[in-house]
Amino acid sequence: MRKFDKIEKPKLISVTCNCCGRQLKVENGELKEGCFAGRQAFGYFSSMDGEMHSFDLCEACYHELTKQFCIPVLIEQMTELV
Ligand SMILES: [Zn+2]
Repeated sequence: MRKFDKIEKPKLISVTCNCCGRQLKVENGELKEGCFAGRQAFGYFSSMDGEMHSFDLCEACYHELTKQFCIPVLIEQMTELV
């Protein structure tokens, strides 16, 4: 869950893990730790048609969630970091 300062130009002011509720480290509008940002727009063939879902997970909660998968997360090394 992300909160932005809407008084001036959009500036990130906080990121909270939706799973454990921990506030992630944000400095000067920039997220300073690893975070999984999930965002999905559901369309016509979904029971959630017309809804946008979004959430953030800290790295610990991401690992707890993904270790339950029967097929592991595909991990590829990136040559250019974003
Ligand atoms: Zn968490």
